[in-house]
Amino acid sequence: MEAAVTREQRLQSALDGAGQFVWDYDCVTGVVYRSAGWSTMLGYEEAPFDSSLAHWAEIAHPDDQKITYESFRDFLEGKSESHHAEYRLRDATGAWRWIESKGRIVERAADGRPLRAAGTSADVTDRKNAAAALELAKQEAERASRAKSEFLETMSHELRTPLNSIIGFANVLKRNRSKSLEASDLTYLDRIRENGVALLRLIDDVLDIAKIEAGRMEITMSTVRLDAMIRDLKAQCERQARPGVQVIAELPGHSLYVRADELRLRQIVLNQLSNAIKFTESGSITAAVVCSPTGEPLRIEVRDTGIGISPERAARIFETFEQADTGTARLYGGTGLGLAISRALCEQMGFTLTMTSEVGVGSTFTIGMTEPGSATAAQPPQSR
Ligand code: ADP
Repeated sequence: MEAAVTREQRLQSALDGAGQFVWDYDCVTGVVYRSAGWSTMLGYEEAPFDSSLAHWAEIAHPDDQKITYESFRDFLEGKSESHHAEYRLRDATGAWRWIESKGRIVERAADGRPLRAAGTSADVTDRKNAAAALELAKQEAERASRAKSEFLETMSHELRTPLNSIIGFANVLKRNRSKSLEASDLTYLDRIRENGVALLRLIDDVLDIAKIEAGRMEITMSTVRLDAMIRDLKAQCERQARPGVQVIAELPGHSLYVRADELRLRQIVLNQLSNAIKFTESGSITAAVVCSPTGEPLRIEVRDTGIGISPERAARIFETFEQADTGTARLYGGTGLGLAISRALCEQMGFTLTMTSEVGVGSTFTIGMTEPGSATAAQPPQSR
């Protein structure tokens, strides 16, 4: 007997210590036994206070009564194996406290009807409040982030209009119809135009990143003639590469088709080629399309023999506003947005963008378009 009492006391103090209170429900009479801690948890002086289910309904939050009652009824009817509910009860001060209850059927009649259900309850108000505060903070952060993206989007639009006008009128003046401009004036006009175009590119990047972050970037997939695109980009880049740097297009002899957003794929490849041009003093820049044995394009590789990227820096260059290091940024210009945009656009098209590099040897950026062996490559458009 002595040992039994000690065991019960030990169990009681363990449950009290863990903040758990015992309940025991008689399914026949509807009377609930609750351990003394239940009353103190709710701030009531006398224990045990009214232990009927009717009293539970009286102090339970109106919004929680139905769902909690239904879940308990389902449990007693055998629809769920165990009982688990979170609900609010009014404590002695009139404040709402969150309670978590768990239990199971502990005794059944010969025909399987439940006779007794038992379990524990605990006050989880602090956890619930912390979770609610966290959710509120998350919603607030998301709202602020959306507002920032919308502001960037609007600003970019507003900046483009006057800038286009500046570039346009610089072009008109450069024609020097009245022959009144001197050589130095024309050089200044070139500067205005070049800087205007650079600024426009920067604004376009900011607009793209804002759209991507707001989840508003739209992609239109169609069948794209890839070999023609690469040849076209190669011709464009040949004019921009440093003297002596060779620009090569490595393509198979047949036509290549891929499902992509044409303008966005062009933007991605051009971003890699522009970077290659920027960071390559001598040697070559190659835009290659690697095909499967059956001739379908698998990936586009942009390879250069430029300065390369160290492994520590490589880990960060796909992040927004990340440049390999501020030294190169100062030397070569740029915003650090191109790769972040390229990777996000690739992902939206179902592609991948990866990089391998060796410092002083060169870098390869790879746009993976189809998994080897998968049959997702585009078919040429049907001729009618
Ligand atoms: P940006 O070139 O406008 O700064 P990107 O996001 O396109 O922005 O590139 C981020 C950084 O990655 C660059 O600043 C550069 O340091 C590095 N990088 C990208 N491409 C190359 C390359 N081909 N060779 C060497 N470094 C590169």
